[in-house]
Amino acid sequence: MRLLHKTALITGAGSGIGRVTALRFASEGAQVIVNDLKAADGEETVRLIREQGGEATFLQADVTKASDVEQMVERALQTYGAIDILFNNAGISGIGAIHELSEELWDRVVNVNMKGVFLPCKYVVPHMIERGSGNIINMSSAIAEIGLMKRAVYAATKGAVLTLTKCMQVDYASHNIRVNALLPGTILTPFVEKYLKESYADAEEGLNTIRRRQLTGDLGRPEDVANAALFLASDESKFMMGSPLYIDGGCTFG
Ligand code: NAD
Repeated sequence: MRLLHKTALITGAGSGIGRVTALRFASEGAQVIVNDLKAADGEETVRLIREQGGEATFLQADVTKASDVEQMVERALQTYGAIDILFNNAGISGIGAIHELSEELWDRVVNVNMKGVFLPCKYVVPHMIERGSGNIINMSSAIAEIGLMKRAVYAATKGAVLTLTKCMQVDYASHNIRVNALLPGTILTPFVEKYLKESYADAEEGLNTIRRRQLTGDLGRPEDVANAALFLASDESKFMMGSPLYIDGGCTFG
C-alpha cells in the first residue's frame, strides 16, 4: 500500500480522471476527500470507493470561490486531521480561436483552470508548512507544449499551471513540499466526449483525428493518468520537484 495513512484531497473527483484517481489512491490506502461542484457525481465517487472497501468523504465546493475552498479545507482538516496530498485536477475546456471566444468563456476557463489551482493551494499550503511536509500535484496538459487549433484559452491556462508549478516548487522546497505537474495527452473522459461533440460533425472522425496525433495510435485512459498521479503522490517520486510528467501517448514529441 503506497499511500497508507495519507489523506488526499482531489478536486473535480466526480468524473473522469479525478474519479479514477480517487479510486486508485483509496485502493493504495489513502483517505480521500472527494471534491466536486456536482454533488451527485462526487457522492457517486465516494460510494464507489466505499464499495471497494476504501475510506472517502465528499466535500462540495466550487474551486473558483474562496469562501467555498476555505470551508472545504477546514472541514477536511476537521474530518481527517491532515492533508498530505493535494491534487488540483478540476478543469474545463473552452473551444474557439481567440476572435471567436466570448469574454465570458475566457473568464470561466481562466477562473476554473487557474484560480481553481491557486485557491486550494492558498488554503492548503499553510497547513503543509505547519506540518513540515506536503505533496501537490497540478493538472496541466500536453497541450501546454503544442499548438492545437481552437484551443487557445485552454492551452494558455494549462501552460500557466505548468509555470505556476515550477514557481511554487521553488517557494516551498525548503518546507519539504513537492509540487509537480501532470501533462496528459488526450484521455477518453466525458470532457473529451463533450469536446468531440462541439468540434466535429462526426465524433468518430474526430476520434480518428486524435488517434493520428498519438504515437500509440489511440487515446489514453483515465487509469493511465491515475497511475502517474499515484507515482507523484508516493515517495517513489521523492526526487522529482517542479517536474512535468507526460502521459501523452507520444503526442507532444512524436
Ligand atoms: P471531466 O469533465 O470528466 O471531470 C472534471 C471534473 O471537474 C467534473 O466532475 C466537474 O464537475 C469538475 N469541476 C469543473 N469545474 C469545477 C469547479 N469550479 N469546482 C469543482 N469541480 C469542478 O474531465 P477530465 O477529462 O477528467 O479532466 C480532468 C482534468 O484533466 C482537467 O483539469 C483537464 O483539463 C485535464 N486534462 C484532461 C485531458 C483529457 O484528455 N481528458 C487531457 C489533459 C488534461
